[in-house]
Amino acid sequence: MSSIQLDAVRKEFGSGGQKIVAVENVDLEIRDGEFLVLVGPSGCGKTTTLRCVAGLEDVTSGTITFGSRDVTDLRARDRDVAMVFQNYALYPHMNVRQNLGFGLKLSTKLTTAEITERVEDAASMLGIEDLLDDKPKELSGGQQQRVALGRAIVREPEVFLMDEPLSNLDAKLRSEMRTELQELQQTLGVTTVYVTHDQTEAMAMGDRIAVMNDGELQQVGAPETVYRSPTNEFVADFIGSPSINLLTVDVEGSTLVGPGDFEYDLSDESPVQGYDRVRAGFRPEDVELVPEGGTSTTVNVAEHMGNENFLYLELAGRELTARIDSAVRPETGETVRFTFGEEALYLFDPDTGDALKTK
Ligand code: ADP
Ligand code: MG
Repeated sequence: MSSIQLDAVRKEFGSGGQKIVAVENVDLEIRDGEFLVLVGPSGCGKTTTLRCVAGLEDVTSGTITFGSRDVTDLRARDRDVAMVFQNYALYPHMNVRQNLGFGLKLSTKLTTAEITERVEDAASMLGIEDLLDDKPKELSGGQQQRVALGRAIVREPEVFLMDEPLSNLDAKLRSEMRTELQELQQTLGVTTVYVTHDQTEAMAMGDRIAVMNDGELQQVGAPETVYRSPTNEFVADFIGSPSINLLTVDVEGSTLVGPGDFEYDLSDESPVQGYDRVRAGFRPEDVELVPEGGTSTTVNVAEHMGNENFLYLELAGRELTARIDSAVRPETGETVRFTFGEEALYLFDPDTGDALKTK
């Protein structure tokens, strides 16, 4: 096992006028035994970063270290990593046992007995002992994904790298496999980098999450920290479902003045001092309906969903979302008033998007 360290990693594709910077100046430490989730929108550079760690891409500049070992110039097969992909191409003509053992046979000096033992250990860990003699086409999607995981496990690598390994599974199986994968990783204690574009998956799985956008790391931290103290508007907006509400508001002393009759008094004006305008954010679950005061809005759509309600509100042409207690049941077309606690207010610089105040 070992930690992984990326220092100023940059990856360009192409050359001259066609140059694409896929990864820019990434500094990231993944702790020994940690489950780190790298999350961000499609095209932001997650796969490229992972492939650089794996040694499947050369970095343009920067260094990658495993523990105290500089692996930047090592080939993939000398790095002792195992990778699991979304498209877990199993060998169709081999049964599960052969699929699991094949990589070991090729790349290690293990005896047949040792390989058999590792294959059987991995199979029992994944609950696929009964499938060892089956061919991939006889397996369900979830079972195939377990075999793909098994191929990584049998190698007993120093590092697991997983690139959207669950995205081909249906929603129910995906959430079951998330839990299983986490438990497995905890049992094995192997340092793991897990890539996903799905922020819910990241929040559910990561010891820490690293949020990436446009080739650059935005923030690294525990899911709760990233959720409650985003470093910028991108992170605030990307993490959380439904998304945070964001308004551009004018600053008048210690009061924020926004669209419609939105007015919000700050107890402390220091975060907004020097600003004429800021971006103000508040999460749907922090919205409270009030009988008077607050901001007046129209309910565009009310979704009553068992133990909670989602309200899609309109404030002077802007859409806002509220998640409220199921006891309150406003209907479509109704006018409601809302507010939120100051600890639930996020403020961002209107030009840079950087957070003005962190909680
Ligand atoms: P993600 O995994 O976050 O969706 P990728 O790492 O696959 O993002 O891609 C990041 C950027 O690099 C994208 O603009 C993509 O088009 C580009 N890219 C990735 N691989 C290559 C390649 N082999 N050649 C050229 N451009 C690439
Ligand atoms: Mg990708």
